[in-house]
Parts: sequence; C-alpha cells; structure tokens
Amino acid sequence: MIPLTETQSHWQAKVRQFCLEKVAPTVIERDKQQLFDHSLVKDVLALGLSRIYWPTTYGGFGDDFMSYAVALKELAKFDDGLAITVSVCVGLCCESIASFGTEQQKEKFLNPLIAGETIGAFALTEKEAGTDASGVQTTAVRDGEYYILNGEKVYITNAGEADVYIVFAMTDPEAGAKGISAFIVTKDMVGFTTGPRDSMMGLHTSTCGSLRFENVRVPVANLLGREGEGYKIAMRTLDSSRIGVAAQATGLAEAALAHSIAYTKERVQFGKPLSKFQNTQFQLAQMAIQVEAANLMLYNVAQDKSEGRPYTVSASMAKKFCSDVAMEVTTKAVQLFGGYGYCEDYPVARLMRNAKVTQIYEGTNEAQQMVIGGALLR
Ligand SMILES: Cc1cc2nc3c(=O)[nH]c(=O)nc-3n(C[C@H](O)[C@H](O)[C@H](O)COP(=O)(O)OP(=O)(O)OC[C@H]3O[C@@H](n4cnc5c(N)ncnc54)[C@H](O)[C@@H]3O)c2cc1C
Repeated sequence: MIPLTETQSHWQAKVRQFCLEKVAPTVIERDKQQLFDHSLVKDVLALGLSRIYWPTTYGGFGDDFMSYAVALKELAKFDDGLAITVSVCVGLCCESIASFGTEQQKEKFLNPLIAGETIGAFALTEKEAGTDASGVQTTAVRDGEYYILNGEKVYITNAGEADVYIVFAMTDPEAGAKGISAFIVTKDMVGFTTGPRDSMMGLHTSTCGSLRFENVRVPVANLLGREGEGYKIAMRTLDSSRIGVAAQATGLAEAALAHSIAYTKERVQFGKPLSKFQNTQFQLAQMAIQVEAANLMLYNVAQDKSEGRPYTVSASMAKKFCSDVAMEVTTKAVQLFGGYGYCEDYPVARLMRNAKVTQIYEGTNEAQQMVIGGALLR
C-alpha cells in the first residue's frame, strides 16, 4: 500500500472521526427513508471537503488532489450518498468553474461553493443524450445580454438541493458537439424548475431528478468558457470527476471487506466461525487483492492529477477498474453474509446497490473503454 503523507492521513482521520460520530449512527435509517439530509451535507462541507485542493486565493486549503481522493474514499465507506453529493459539487461543478470560469465567475460562484455555503450540480444528461452527450437538445438562444434556455435534463444529482447548476445547451445546432455551450444557472432564475426525486436502486441518501428550463433568461456573463466550448468543458471536467468515482468505488469495496472480516469472525455455523472455513478465507483473500489493486489504480491517477501529468486515460482506467472491483467485492460480501447480507438492516446490501451505479454514471464503463481504446489506437 502506498504510504499516505501527513496531510493525506490528516484528512483520512478527520473524515473518519466525523463519520463515526455523525454519519454511521444514522446511515441505515436515512437510507431506508430515502432522506437527503441537507444539514448533514452542510456539516460535511463545513468539515472542509469542498476546500481541500483548491488554491488559497479561492478560499481553498491548497492541499494536494490526493488528499481529496483519500477524504472522499473515507466518506464513501460510511455513506456513499453523501460522497456523491460532495463529489458532484466539487468534482463537477467547482471543477468546471475553476478550469473555465472568468475571475468574476469564480468570485461570484466558485468561492461560495468552495466555502461550503452553496451546493453545486452538473446537468449534461438528457432523455436522448446519455453516453452520446453530443446529442444535447436543450437550446440556448442569444437575446441581447441574455441567453434564453429551453429544454429538460434528467438524472441530475443534487437536483432541487443545489444552488448552482452547470447546464449544457445547444447554441448552434448545425455544429453538433461544437455547437454546445455551458452556462451557470442559479436556482432562483425564473422558468427554472426541478421535477420530483427519481426512484433509484441505490444512493438513497443523495438525491437525483430532472431539471426543466422554460424561457430561462441567463445573463451572458454566465456563459462558461466561449460559445461552442461546452462539450470540451464537459469532457475535461468528467476526466477529473471520474477520479472521484474511483475513490467512491474503492471506499465501497474497502467497507465491504472490513464488514465481511468482522462478520465472518462472529457468525457461527457447524460449531465454528465462518472465518474458519477455507472458502471464507479464499473469498476474503480475493477481495483483499482486488481492494489493494483498486487503491493502487486510484492513487496512481490521483498522483497524476496532483503532479500535473495528463490523466484522461488513467482516470478512465481507474474509474472502470475500481467500479468493477466495487461490484465484485460487494457482491462477495453479500454472499458471505448469507441471508443477512440481503437484509437492509445490515450494511452490505446497501454497499452492493451503491456499487452498481459507479459502473454507470459519469460515463458508463463501456464509454471508459472507448476512451482507453481510442487512445491506444491514436
Ligand atoms: C444515480 C445517477 C446519478 C446521475 N447523475 C448525473 C448528473 O449529476 N449529471 C448528469 O449529467 N448525468 C447524471 N447521470 C446520468 C449518467 O451519467 C448517465 O445515465 C450515463 O452517462 C449513461 O447514459 P444513459 O443512462 O442515457 O445510458 P445509454 O447511453 O442509453 O447507454 C445504455 C447502455 O448502452 C451502452 N452504450 C451506449 N453507447 C454505446 C456504444 N457506442 N458502444 C457500446 N455501448 C454503448 C452503455 O454503456 C450502457 O450500457 C446520473 C445517472 C444516475 C443513474
């Protein structure tokens, strides 16, 4: 295992302590009730998770990206719904504005997001534009000092809870992907509404839903980057946030392994603990190998980003690998728990449900293979 620096260990310990006190005691109930706990999210942000790797000029702590990955992984071990809430806010919303925003946009929108005063979202997906994000049909038409937005987004994490949304809309339908632009939309804009919460298989402590834009007047000052740069902004931002998905997935797998070790030592069948059976030991060994490998993939790409190396391909590799590990390890954990693994009063069913979506969102694992294959054959 790669040793953590003092700063990275500090973040790991800080998040763990917070989770033991405030997250772990309520996660099963919040998950069952499908509760997005706004005040708990604010507490997580107040802990400093949204500040970790941003420069001090924007109110960040200026720590390395790896510290953020370590902190997010730790949060996901206890409550992956909270982790995706933070990850979308920091890895998608803040990252877009930090990389492509003007100084005025950073001051107005990024600083409060980093400070944890506001929550962010990222709205790319539409009914007809999922993996093929270039098929966006939401339109933005220039009208003097405004763009008029019309359309609908689906499956948007933090919908209804977020204050600031990065919205991708077509400004030049003839130009295909090069006709997409990105806008900063705030929840108070007239004509902007959110639909009811989606009913999902997992991530019940987060929230996800649709967004509707009916003649929403967005000031030209809220155009992110230049007209036509939206697709590039989306793809670059997703490169970075996929490291967050890898961190979440690795956290889920680590948690499943830890719960399985504890449970199989306790549970007695045929007069001895399950841990005494060779099959149990072999399953745990395979899970541990997968967790170790996922950590190495995660730390490899987090270091690439921390140290300024290109990371598009290593992020896709880590996202795919770690999410596949999460699915396999959590499934093994459910099997080791037997019927109790299938019961929502125990933690591993939740981990398995939450693991599934890490193979799907922020680009499916098939889409990651398109990125990797494309780079190999360039
Ligand atoms: C819980 C959750 C939260 C989400 N949060 C957000 C969010 O905050 N913001 C946002 O913009 N989106 C969000 N999404 C949307 C998510 O990113 C999309 O669901 C995902 O990108 C896949 O798009 P799709 O669902 O339309 O599937 P489709 O694109 O219809 O894909 C269906 C299947 O076909 C495969 N496929 C598609 N094209 C190809 C191809 N060329 N070759 C091989 N296989 C292919 C896919 O891999 C997949 O297996 C979220 C989704 C979920 C479930």
